[in-house]
Amino acid sequence: GHARIGLIGLGTMGAALASNIAEKGFDVAVFNRTTQVTRDFAENAGDLAPKITPTETLDDFVAALSSPRAIILMVPAGDPVDAQIEALRPLLDDDDLIIDCGNANFHDTDRRVDAHTGPFLGVGVSGGEEGARHGPSIMAGGDTEYWGRVEDIMTAIAAKHDGDPCAALMGPGGAGHFVKMVHNGIEYADMQMIAEVYGILRDGHGMDYDAIGDIFAAWNKGPLESYLIEISGKVAHARDVATGKPLLSVIVDAAGQKGTGRWTVIEAQHRLAPVPAIEAAVVARNLSARLQERAKGQSIFGAAPQAWDGLDHTTLEQGLMAGKILCYAQGFEMLSAATRDFGWDLPMARIAQIWREGCIIRSSMLDEMATALDAAPGVNLMFTDHFAAILKDTHGALRQVVAQAALNGHPVPALSSGLAYFDMMRTARGTADMIQGQRDFFGLHGFVHVNGTDDQHGPWAKEACD
Ligand code: NDP
Repeated sequence: GHARIGLIGLGTMGAALASNIAEKGFDVAVFNRTTQVTRDFAENAGDLAPKITPTETLDDFVAALSSPRAIILMVPAGDPVDAQIEALRPLLDDDDLIIDCGNANFHDTDRRVDAHTGPFLGVGVSGGEEGARHGPSIMAGGDTEYWGRVEDIMTAIAAKHDGDPCAALMGPGGAGHFVKMVHNGIEYADMQMIAEVYGILRDGHGMDYDAIGDIFAAWNKGPLESYLIEISGKVAHARDVATGKPLLSVIVDAAGQKGTGRWTVIEAQHRLAPVPAIEAAVVARNLSARLQERAKGQSIFGAAPQAWDGLDHTTLEQGLMAGKILCYAQGFEMLSAATRDFGWDLPMARIAQIWREGCIIRSSMLDEMATALDAAPGVNLMFTDHFAAILKDTHGALRQVVAQAALNGHPVPALSSGLAYFDMMRTARGTADMIQGQRDFFGLHGFVHVNGTDDQHGPWAKEACD
């Protein structure tokens, strides 16, 4: 065969990715479980048709590829990936490479690499359909040698930031899917913080949707410039197709989720990596789905959010900036924990760089984060010179937002947990002395004395021995 690369799974993401690959000049063979989908894809390929080889059996697909083969899977994560690998391997040579570009759980990717059934890469792809078609952010995991075989294709199809491709090898095994998972966790928290500020504007300030959209549009020209702020403004301005009403007013406030935020939070706990803003965002989505219970709560206690004189928009903007920085600091700290626990060497600054374009959390602040993490490797983002200076200027605003929101009944779980994280992380002597005293009292767990001796006990230990 002559095709440089193959792709299985012509769904939303796969079709877009295959078109992107063909557009960049690489011959690509494609296969889809449902043959009609392959035929439709080939028929609608237009100018790209000469670069695309549609196939209707796995044998023909494999035969269409040049050796050693490289095959992208873009099928639903989980069992379909294992089933597809099982179906493919007997048809392949030992050295042929399978690349899972779906949203796999990184534990599954580790397992697939460890199974040693053949060369394997686990690659996280972010940016939705639009990204896949015109330039996603690509986070790869696996052996350097296998990455080297497809790096030219991956960098060609990736988003570019001033010409720098948003594609890189994160580390061995599941490292790519791990980084993609944390990306999604950060995405949850970033979205939640924006939604919390939207709530203050809507219910506290009593603003209409267009005015809220205008504020987000204005913020998108300042330090908060990002894809998520941009689309939040567009969503606020949008009208319902059926009724002509403001779109947000007709959307049921129950958030969906596919589980990557939950994976992040569970894995963060295993790593002892605090990501409270991400946890709050996952909890908020879960609570949002409890529509009947919330209605019952309102009937018993009365509606929580009260209108109030409000905060000026600059305070809200700065509060959101501080919250965002703290959320990203937590995400990067989780990546550091993985580096420590898994013996990886996750390239922090490079990760910030490849998130600057293509992916859902792309923002101008990520460019500053890349610079800060590059200058101070291993340092918590909130302690880097640049972001410490911004936090010094903005944490007062975050405090005002959280305090006023609390006093007026506006739930702001992500922003307030970001603030609690900030305050704990700048308190040299906290309150865990009481926790240790309690633990020693009921379980004789011992404590470290401020004089440096460890395994000390309170007076109750002596009583127990007497
Ligand atoms: P779609 O549902 O649009 O497409 C799924 C594709 O997989 C179809 O081609 C389908 O073939 C095929 N497929 C489904 N089940 C099987 C199976 N058991 N064996 C073989 N082929 C199968 O999914 P997406 O393109 O949205 O998602 C693909 C992957 O990309 C997922 O892991 C997803 O999480 C991830 N992803 C999605 C993003 C998005 O924005 N949508 C963003 C980033 C990642 P058939 O036509 O026969 O049904």
